[in-house]
Amino acid sequence: MSELDYQPYDLETLAIRAGQSRTPEQEHSDPIFATSSYVFNSAAEAAARFSGKQPGNIYSRFTNPTVRAFEQRLAALEGGERCIAVASGMAAIATVGFGLLKAGDHVVCSRGVFGNTVILLQNYFGKFGVPSTFVDLTDYEAWEEAIRPQTRFLFLETPSNPLTQIADIRRLADIAHAHGCLLVVDNCFLTPALQKPLQLGADIVVHSATKYLDGQGRCVGGAIVGGLDLLDKEIYPYLRTGGPTMSPFNAWVFLKGLETLSLRMRAHGENALDLAQWLEAQTWIDRVHYPGLPSHSQHELAKQQQRSGGGIVSFEVRGGREEAWKLIDSTRLLSITANLGDVKTTITHPASTTHGRLSEQERAAAGIRESLVRIAVGLEAIEDIKNDLLNAFA
Ligand SMILES: *Cc1c(COP(=O)(O)O)cnc(C)c1O
Repeated sequence: MSELDYQPYDLETLAIRAGQSRTPEQEHSDPIFATSSYVFNSAAEAAARFSGKQPGNIYSRFTNPTVRAFEQRLAALEGGERCIAVASGMAAIATVGFGLLKAGDHVVCSRGVFGNTVILLQNYFGKFGVPSTFVDLTDYEAWEEAIRPQTRFLFLETPSNPLTQIADIRRLADIAHAHGCLLVVDNCFLTPALQKPLQLGADIVVHSATKYLDGQGRCVGGAIVGGLDLLDKEIYPYLRTGGPTMSPFNAWVFLKGLETLSLRMRAHGENALDLAQWLEAQTWIDRVHYPGLPSHSQHELAKQQQRSGGGIVSFEVRGGREEAWKLIDSTRLLSITANLGDVKTTITHPASTTHGRLSEQERAAAGIRESLVRIAVGLEAIEDIKNDLLNAFA
């Protein structure tokens, strides 16, 4: 299927069909091009390829057919013109930064983002003379006030990790554009199967493909999706030079993962809603955070912006770290790991893992309490997940 043919098709179809270009072998499933380099028919052809005058493969740091197939498929799903695959979700964020920022620029970022994103902006881009201001995800006045003439982009995740707070993407896109900035959204938690930030006005979407795009916890990868000009001119040159490349094997795993993305995301959402409703009825739990619950303070916005609440549920146990750790340690079925987006349900204590490198003050500002437990709901039978938690509590 060529890009021109995408228009009439739904996401479920594109997830299976977009991006494939068959070789003369006429394979039905996508092949893996495990090659680091490519051969040219002549010195003149090599020169034309290197100069960019002739399109085609050059070297797998920046051109590989399997990686390209994944890029085209994900771009089709997000509704973006161009996708750049990279080695990890963090590499995606770093690559956006290296591509777009120069010393003297400034970034405004939600406080409720992945812990490493905060460290990347603060410690690394900060070191190169690009300061960041962190604001509450849902305080739109604070976003606007934080913007300076030097601000290049606003960065956020919605829903946030682990509290599942929702930001109005369209509203933040309008704020960004009114000030001549770009809006970058980390769409890891919902994927294009449940939320399409570019349609809501975002300029760039970043992904940790490690999570739901793979869906079965096998490979680490990332991606950047957005407009052709922006990605080709400002971000791709960094990939070519800096080299945070996705391996063809990983690209193939993600490519196959996309084929079942919609089905899996629907099932994750159904299981998570069931679990969240059940948790809310338990007396040993203080509070449940899940956008699919009417008790969630942004439930209405979530219903407009997302197809479902997604797969992440967090809750606060009565007590603090001791009680949270005891519950986690007493589960038998759930995996104790900070990963998410896997068919296997995982349980984690954000304050001492994903957000452990933040200062106590930063954690408090982000609302991450010691009593907080996060569950990334997998695809096991939901009754087994509930029973495991109930037995663990007992
Ligand atoms: C995991 C994660 C990342 C980082 O992705 P890696 O593939 O682990 O580098 C970034 N953002 C969010 C929301 C994540 O959950």
